[in-house]
Amino acid sequence: MRVCVLGAGIVGLATAYELSQSGHDVTVIDRALPGSGASGGNGSQLSYSYVQPLADPGIWAQLPKLLLSPSSPLKIRPQLDVHQWRWGLQFLAACNAATSRSTTIALLELAAQSRQSFDAMLAKEKLAVDFSNTGKLVLFSTKASFAAAQKQMLLQRGMGSAQKAVSANQCVDIEPALASYAPNITGAIYTPSECAADCQKTCDGLQELLAQRGVRFLLDTAIEKIALERGAVTAVKTHQGDIEADRYVMALGAASAPVARNLGVYLPIYPLKGYNITVDVNETPGSAPDVSVTDSVRKVVFARIGSRLRVAGMAELGGYNTQVAPRQIESLKASTQALFPYSSAFADLHPWAGLRPATPTALPLIGKHPKGPSNLLFNVGHGALGFTLAFGSAAQVAAMLANQ
Ligand SMILES: Cc1cc2nc3c(=O)[nH]c(=O)nc-3n(C[C@H](O)[C@H](O)[C@H](O)COP(=O)(O)OP(=O)(O)OC[C@H]3O[C@@H](n4cnc5c(N)ncnc54)[C@H](O)[C@@H]3O)c2cc1C
Repeated sequence: MRVCVLGAGIVGLATAYELSQSGHDVTVIDRALPGSGASGGNGSQLSYSYVQPLADPGIWAQLPKLLLSPSSPLKIRPQLDVHQWRWGLQFLAACNAATSRSTTIALLELAAQSRQSFDAMLAKEKLAVDFSNTGKLVLFSTKASFAAAQKQMLLQRGMGSAQKAVSANQCVDIEPALASYAPNITGAIYTPSECAADCQKTCDGLQELLAQRGVRFLLDTAIEKIALERGAVTAVKTHQGDIEADRYVMALGAASAPVARNLGVYLPIYPLKGYNITVDVNETPGSAPDVSVTDSVRKVVFARIGSRLRVAGMAELGGYNTQVAPRQIESLKASTQALFPYSSAFADLHPWAGLRPATPTALPLIGKHPKGPSNLLFNVGHGALGFTLAFGSAAQVAAMLANQ
């Protein structure tokens, strides 16, 4: 079957990989280069066993700070955009215990499928992506937040995630680079099976091997219009001409919602902007972390990718601009120096900003839409976990096409 994949982020590329493995004739279109959307600069954590949806009942207590505090890692910048307000209301409606629980269960199931597919791909293709499986520590600074995290841990353990609650001293045993920060830690959840990898290297590696296998890439090629006839897509219009296929898969990340609206389809996706810095590490043992670390107070994630440390954080609900705000970069640097003062000389920070394609619940949207074209599948809305979930949702798309 001829399949056209719209978008060469990690979700589009994982989809192209699975479809090519199933023997389809695949074309990938992107307005830029592979990984140049949210994927290339993400936090590098493969969080297969520890998930914590942002839509949580705890949000209600934090709401005044979110709206008013300049130092909050979560920010709302109100826009004259009805879609932002609609998304915000849907997000608040999802901030309850029952939704958080069912989302956690669904995310863990998809993440488990994703781990299997990603591991199989990596074992077969041997891509050099700075992969590590050194586990993850999520740090808590107050008794209340640590107690809430232990409840979430019990739910995740029930789903087969191997996790344990550990003390500050145990954190240092697991990750010696945390030694100077230990007095600030009340407790942590340790998930030994978590992994990390460089998502940009994964995108580049996938593109190279898929191109060698005959997948056609139309890069620097914006999708100008999606042509419809009798409820089906007939072509994707680009400056390179009309691209025709039997099936189409939309994987346009945060841009999916406006593109889908032109097809009469409403997708509850809005961009949640985040930032990162990437620094070369001090290789002296105990200086930079080998284990992935998430600071739950600052909402900052740290992951080792080869000889670099990727530090990512912030979530701004404020539209589609990807400008890098120097204040946020300074804040990420300050967080890194607070937790890991000896990790790097911080000579070059490589600042970056990108847009998480967020749904209100944090669950991606995979498959046909009841109001959408009959030959179009969506693979969108992976939010803060797109690298983690990409290969699972790609496998689901491949299975859906096989069933058709
Ligand atoms: C700061 C930050 C930290 C993160 N940390 C993690 C993490 O540690 N672990 C994790 O699992 N996930 C993480 N994520 C989330 C993850 O990066 C995203 O969920 C994932 O990258 C989404 O992938 P995607 O392919 O759907 O979108 P994208 O990577 O954004 O790809 C969409 C593609 O569509 C193309 N496109 C858009 N419009 C058009 C058009 N009109 N024509 C042609 N092409 C178009 C874009 O150029 C882009 O290449 C993080 C995200 C951010 C921002």
